[in-house]
Amino acid sequence: MFDLIGEGSFAESLPADPARAAGVRQVQGATHSWVAPTPVSSPRVLAWSDAMGEVLGINSDQALPLLAGNAVPDGFKPYATCYGGHQFGNWAGQLGDGRAINLAEVRGTDGQRYEVQLKGAGPTPYSRTADGRAVLRSSLREFLCSEAMHALGVPTTRALSLVATGDTVVRDMFYDGNPAPEPGAIVCRVAPSFIRFGNFELPAVRGDHALLRQLFDYTVNTHWPDIDPQAPDAVERWFTDICRRTATLLAHWMRVGFVHGVMNTDNMSVHGLTIDYGPYGWLEPFDPSWTPNTTDLPGRRYCYGNQPAIAQWNLSRLGSALTPLVDDVQVLQDALAVFANQYTGDTQRQFGQKLGLPEDAPPDAVDALLKPLFDLLPRTEVDMTLFFRGLADVPTAQDAAEDALLAPVLPAYYDAGMLRDDLRADTTAWLRQWARAVHEQDAETRKHAMNAANPLYVPRNWLAQQAIDAAEQGNLDPLHRLQRVLAQPYTPQDGADDLAARRPEWARNKPGCSALSCSS
Ligand code: AMP
Ligand code: MG
Repeated sequence: MFDLIGEGSFAESLPADPARAAGVRQVQGATHSWVAPTPVSSPRVLAWSDAMGEVLGINSDQALPLLAGNAVPDGFKPYATCYGGHQFGNWAGQLGDGRAINLAEVRGTDGQRYEVQLKGAGPTPYSRTADGRAVLRSSLREFLCSEAMHALGVPTTRALSLVATGDTVVRDMFYDGNPAPEPGAIVCRVAPSFIRFGNFELPAVRGDHALLRQLFDYTVNTHWPDIDPQAPDAVERWFTDICRRTATLLAHWMRVGFVHGVMNTDNMSVHGLTIDYGPYGWLEPFDPSWTPNTTDLPGRRYCYGNQPAIAQWNLSRLGSALTPLVDDVQVLQDALAVFANQYTGDTQRQFGQKLGLPEDAPPDAVDALLKPLFDLLPRTEVDMTLFFRGLADVPTAQDAAEDALLAPVLPAYYDAGMLRDDLRADTTAWLRQWARAVHEQDAETRKHAMNAANPLYVPRNWLAQQAIDAAEQGNLDPLHRLQRVLAQPYTPQDGADDLAARRPEWARNKPGCSALSCSS
């Protein structure tokens, strides 16, 4: 069973809300409230991450009552944390863990510390007007995508389990006045901590500088062992590191085509992890203005192409929250500048790998290919994942025929018939330019490197939706198959061609298959 960390944990080190009931309230002067999960009627494990189970030293039979919120064994003191946030650019006041309850902090078998959290485990003081629960569809999506992102090499919170509660949850899925009961579920999430930008913003906005300082000291002491929180440059160094990690995270999102969908500051991890999987999506047709979140459609604030700029804006909100802790705000402004440098360097390196350029290729060489490609792809519907994956197999001989050049990337095109006239000429010209840039390398070595940088399988919304539809009918096979294949996203797997396919036409406008509402 879990190796609990008591002393030195978030909950034992920082001030707790003295009230103990779950009733909704504004919580002042505390970073968290003690609150137990609310039991559910007939829990059942629907999916399990063996990898995470091993790290935590736990198996699904032992864990079910705990992971359903039906048992709180001795030594566990569950709590919900207090944070605020900027939502869609506006300060939203106190938010907090409205349906997430931290069970404990534990030491993993790898020696690392982990916070183990249930999402959908019942009301907390932060539930505001909502029920503290989560539906199966959104929980399945979070479980599946967190583990898939880890396998893709993208920094992320992890998921241990997906548990059906046996109870229904009422949701108005389309926000059109038609609430309906849906099956409920609980995901057990795992991360070094779930501390968000918003945990710092709330005490800062409230002027509670003592609490802000305590949270800073604790966070740095616990998770940044190479920084002494009392040192004069501690805030600057810590914020610089967060800017760096966030830039690296964003470069990863952009290289795999992940669109978070709700980049509010309460959904930004100080560890630079992908956190809070909601109406996320994968860029299928390469369109930088695409957002998976129907609530975001009016302004497309959180569309693919805006994500780096939004991350930077979110960092500037965190920087503002930290100003009471520094003598000179200039140091925070300087730190923020690190974001752009790190992001540019990371994307150039990562896209250089995706394009199969030599490791020492100068940034200009990457840009010279990338800029025209990013102009070319949005001109018709081209699947981002399949285009990059296919590129490795494009012939590099200078006399390759046009059809031979195009053949490996054709499966990426929604309508190959669109690839004619100017577009066909420009595409073949670009492919020849690419071929000239890479042809001197050993072809097998280059293909191998490109396949390690360009995933074949990503958790496309319509694939997740098929797994959801089946799971709601009691069939878990599609979910387990998808989970298994996504665990090795860069390796072709027998009989899994349908999971590496372009979005089918039936999925174009089907709810959940392309865009989603925030209802969860
Ligand atoms: P999100 O945009 O999903 O990250 O959620 C924003 C805020 O709403 C967070 O404070 C959540 O805890 C809270 N929240 C979302 N759904 C629920 C729910 N069903 N019950 C209680 N709180 C919720
Ligand atoms: Mg959230």
